[in-house]
Amino acid sequence: MHELSITQSMLDLVLKQAEEAGASRVGKINLVIGEMTGVVDSCVRFYFDFLSKGTPAEEAALDFEVIPTTARCLDCDRDFRLGEFDWTCPYCQSNNIEITGGKELYVKSIEVE
Ligand SMILES: [Zn+2]
Repeated sequence: MHELSITQSMLDLVLKQAEEAGASRVGKINLVIGEMTGVVDSCVRFYFDFLSKGTPAEEAALDFEVIPTTARCLDCDRDFRLGEFDWTCPYCQSNNIEITGGKELYVKSIEVE
């Protein structure tokens, strides 16, 4: 259910930006979602349709850029794509890893009219 509050704060931000830009309509919203956040784009879309009714963002298209989960091994210093249940370095099998990508969640840009 956390998509509801995420979508609400995203919409608040978008409306504020549109207002500051003096725009009457929001055409498109470009979002970045990290795989690790567990945010489901179809849920965001669903809530967005519901929440944006009657606002300048009502007809806006949503574009999602999904960032894969990546990590760096602190033992061999290599970067790799992290599997869902495999939290070991594929090069040296170490568990000493640091998440470097996949936790992103933000509005990258909006296109206004
Ligand atoms: Zn390693």
